Amino acid sequence: MRVETDIVVVGSGIAGLFFALKAAEQGAEVLLLTKDRPEESNTAYAQGGIASVLSKKDSFEAHVRDTLVAGDGLCRESIVWEVVREAPSVIEELIRYGVEFDREPAGALKLGREGGHSYPRIVHSGGDATGAAISQRLLEAVRSHPRIQMRYPFFALDLITQHHLGIYVNRGYPSITCYGIYALEEETGKIWTILAKAIVLASGGAGQVYPITTNPPTATGDGVAMALRAKARIANMEFFQFHPTALYEPEKRPAFLLTEALRGAGARLLDPIHHKPFMAKYDSRAELAPRDIVARAIDSECKIAGVPYVYLDARPVPDLPENFPTIYSYCLKKGLDPKHDLLPVAPAAHYMVGGIDTDRVGRTSIRQLYAIGEVSYTGLHGANRLASNSLLEAVAFAKRAAADAVLHLKERTHQREVPDWDAQGSRHPDEMILISHNLQELRVLMGNYVGIVRSNFRLERAWRRIALLYEETEAFYKHTYPSRELFELRNLIAVAYLIVKCASLRRESRGLHYTLDYPEKRREEGVDILV
Ligand SMILES: Cc1cc2nc3c(=O)[nH]c(=O)nc-3n(C[C@H](O)[C@H](O)[C@H](O)COP(=O)(O)OP(=O)(O)OC[C@H]3O[C@@H](n4cnc5c(N)ncnc54)[C@H](O)[C@@H]3O)c2cc1C
Repeated sequence: MRVETDIVVVGSGIAGLFFALKAAEQGAEVLLLTKDRPEESNTAYAQGGIASVLSKKDSFEAHVRDTLVAGDGLCRESIVWEVVREAPSVIEELIRYGVEFDREPAGALKLGREGGHSYPRIVHSGGDATGAAISQRLLEAVRSHPRIQMRYPFFALDLITQHHLGIYVNRGYPSITCYGIYALEEETGKIWTILAKAIVLASGGAGQVYPITTNPPTATGDGVAMALRAKARIANMEFFQFHPTALYEPEKRPAFLLTEALRGAGARLLDPIHHKPFMAKYDSRAELAPRDIVARAIDSECKIAGVPYVYLDARPVPDLPENFPTIYSYCLKKGLDPKHDLLPVAPAAHYMVGGIDTDRVGRTSIRQLYAIGEVSYTGLHGANRLASNSLLEAVAFAKRAAADAVLHLKERTHQREVPDWDAQGSRHPDEMILISHNLQELRVLMGNYVGIVRSNFRLERAWRRIALLYEETEAFYKHTYPSRELFELRNLIAVAYLIVKCASLRRESRGLHYTLDYPEKRREEGVDILV
């Protein structure tokens, strides 16, 4: 099956949906592919909200400063300024698409406060159901737009470049160009050749590479892996944010998140033995310290006590059932009443800070290929993401990328010499155990050796094991018909490779990357690790 469209978008999270709407509104025909139900994405799980300067007491300078402090010397400062200034208009646009943010009785937007923010500036919806509200409204708009076609479940397999025309393409190749995407139609098993003049990866993060994660099963790093195979430039993959406080439920994927807005509203972290607050020992901002500091503090308290969790005491939070209804009812279902009980919590892989390196409008190092949202590295977050800056980044860059893509459509043509996917000689997988076993092994090794605290020794061990998993999986792939499961495993192995490679190259501790061998920063200003 071959199709041609102006723009193909991979992903139905906030970035992909917003991009599709903006591009279609400017006249482009958009084909949006998504591998699961359109509602399933990291976006749908976002609780806290979106950061924006909206109160008179607050200022752009303060939001920029907080972002730069969290980013620990690695943010691209001009990008930070641009995005922070754009934030109020991002909120306006979402309101125009029908997102109902929570308001004060007098009508002003209700502003929450989260770790690392010096003022209340987090806009939210339904208390703690912000992502679901945004996803729902944007999906409604996408579904009713005549120039957007959404297809699912469609799994994007690989980007099409000169490589598919028989040209040898390596990283030094001067002008790698993306002509489209090969995608698997899950219901029929057919592989489509989709030719486009702009290709947009909005495929989200990769929390599934770790054993405990707040991300849903769709977060398997497909976009970064496809970009790596196509020889795009990838940046700073060693920075993976662990959310400090997921409810501790072994084996539950995704882990249930207890938003840090709870700590903003007065919840305290208590050690698991004596039930005493401990955060002040680690940082003067205590419970409101940035996530990496809180996650490392919890990791350390767990190691001291020899147990896999600490406690979150949410009893001081005023009006908890009204302000955090999702959390309240979930805990009740699990037999925990946050108004009376301490909640066991552990860090969980949460956000991929590194990603496909982009410029200020979402263009990657490959022509005609854009990356937006969590899959990208724009320089906004630097070495660590400030809470609630990611939904903001996704919308800001989706809008810029859409304008740029539409602007250049006229001067581009479809590359029709691209061959269809060659599946000759490949069998359908009869040994799913190979895939599930390798996946499990990958997650365990990533959790043990490439988690919150790293060392050269651990990274070397991880590297050797990943190399073996890579070899086995690629051998299996060579004679196997593409399936979502097999590609997700290949993609997660690619993500693990990138994390370990970047972590090994960064010989310092900065932001989210902490290594016992180089516990200090080399200098104040950081340097990007580009692969
Ligand atoms: C529990 C949780 C709470 C969070 N809370 C907040 C918050 O309060 N504020 C904030 O700013 N951020 C928050 N985040 C982070 C934020 O939600 C994400 O960074 C953001 O939603 C990412 O949006 P996205 O569009 O880039 O990706 P996603 O929303 O993850 O969407 C990716 C899409 O791509 C699709 N896809 C992936 N691979 C393929 C493929 N190969 N083929 C086809 N489709 C594919 C997926 O199915 C999905 O539809 C939270 C994240 C989590 C997990």
